[in-house]
This record gives sequence, structure tokens and C-alpha cells, in this order.
Amino acid sequence: MNSSYELPQDEAAYSFGFLDEYAKREVRRTVLKAICIPGYQTPYASREMPMGRGFGTGGLQLTLSLIGPDDTLKVIDQGSDDSVNAVNLRQFVELTCPGVDTTESTREATLIQSRHRVPETTLTEAQVLVLQVPYPDPLVVVEPSEAKRKIMHGEGDYSRLLTKLYEDIVKFDEITISHRYPTRINGHYVIDPSPIPRYDVPGLHQSAALILLGAGREKKIYAVPPYTDAVPLAFDDVPFRTEDFRDRKGQRIACARCGSTESFLDEFTDDRGRKVHQCSDSDYCNERLSTQAFAGEMGA
Ligand SMILES: [Zn+2]
Repeated sequence: MNSSYELPQDEAAYSFGFLDEYAKREVRRTVLKAICIPGYQTPYASREMPMGRGFGTGGLQLTLSLIGPDDTLKVIDQGSDDSVNAVNLRQFVELTCPGVDTTESTREATLIQSRHRVPETTLTEAQVLVLQVPYPDPLVVVEPSEAKRKIMHGEGDYSRLLTKLYEDIVKFDEITISHRYPTRINGHYVIDPSPIPRYDVPGLHQSAALILLGAGREKKIYAVPPYTDAVPLAFDDVPFRTEDFRDRKGQRIACARCGSTESFLDEFTDDRGRKVHQCSDSDYCNERLSTQAFAGEMGA
């Protein structure tokens, strides 16, 4: 190849944020509508991305449409900044959004794209959380026809979903949904809050940060605007409860690294075959460790 050959400028690079300006504008317009109708699954023309659908293309399109050169981005997958999906998405944004800073710190980030977790650290008004969604419609488990589901959503008719939860209680004495817990937004639409654990659902309620949910394959965007009610479906006599991580003696299990008894824990088996628990949110765990180290130095 001729080494002195240079591509013409307009062919040499993608536009800022990979997507063309029209695509980004459409996503932003959809976001505005989604904020105006909290919890409503707003359709949009999801674009082809250079990665397989199901790898966070919906979340990525939101991130790329909203991010600007002044933003600081954090990408997490199951609470970790270092997993393959998070690393790849972060590198893609670094590649296509020159000048954008990336971080692993929840506090420093202005935009957080996440899969399967809401950060442990409480978010602020200055932050936006983007959640990647595989299946946006909670009614899909009880009604296969999208046309009928739309009518049910419009009428706020979630009786069949409640019946499903009731069947769970009859069979198992409790509601067994561990992820994607149906949650009512602003007193009307029930959303699938993406595969976050039940533990994270209360984090959506009256959140100071704007929460946007993007489903690329299903071409839907919906939102939990700041300071909006997000109430998990439950019954008066069987209230919603989260995972509580207690051992056989009823003691709350602590993180093996930082000792936290207030975080969502991952369980794994160590080299000796023992069960070990650790914070799923790696930034939260690391921050606690460094604070403890600092306190130790000051005390010494
Ligand atoms: Zn920890």
C-alpha cells in the first residue's frame, strides 16, 4: 500500500460518537418523550452497531447520543469495571469520542452505563445512569401479542402480572423473581427494570439521577426521571423484599475484602473450596478499602 496515501478527511473518521447526527438527534428526541411519560416504552429506530445485539447496543446508543467532550464515563458490567463487556464498550467510546474522560469511580462519572447493577454509591442530580435492557416489556411473560400488551399498558391493567406473582406465592411461599422485578413507575406504567437484582430496585425510587433504559434489539427506550416513584409490584400481606444475605445463624454476611454488611454480595468458591462473599460493586469495595487504609495510617 502507498504509505503516503491519506484518506480524505470525511472518510477518514467516524463522526463524534460513531452515530451520525440524525441518529443521535432521534435518540435524544426519544429520550425527551420517555422522560415526559415515565416508564413508557418509547419506540425508536435502533441502529446497527458494530457489535452483536444483546451486547448492550441499546445502552450504547443512549450513551453515544448523550455524551459530550465534557463528560466522564464509567462502564460497568455486573458491578465490575474490568469484565470483558465493560472493557470493550469503554474502549469503543474512547475510540469514537475523542476528548471524553473515562473513570472507574462512581463519584467522578457524569454518565454511567451499566449492565445488571445500579451502583452502590448513591447517585446525584449531576449524573445519568444508562441501563442495558434485553427485554423491555414485563408483560411478555403473560401476553405474547404486542398489540394487546400495549392496550394493557395503556389501561394500567397489570392484573395478569399480579396473578403470576400470586402463583409464585402459592407454589413457593414467596415471590421467586430474582432479577427483572416488575416495577411501577410514577403510579402507572410497569417496567422491566433490566436484569438488576431485586436488591437494586429500591435504588430507582426517587433517584436524584436520571435513569434511562435502552433496549437495542427491541428498539425501545424508557426512563425513570429524577425524583419519581418506582414501586415494585407486591401485595399488602406479602410485601416486596430484597436479598438479605444472611448465614444459617441469621447473621448478615460481610464482604470478605472490605467488611461491608450493606452491599450486594457475589458468592464464589475459593481455592480451598470455601464459600467467599465479596461486594459485587468493585468501585464501592475499593473505595471502602482505601478509606480504611487511610484511616489506619492516620491512626498509626
Ligand atoms: Zn467489599
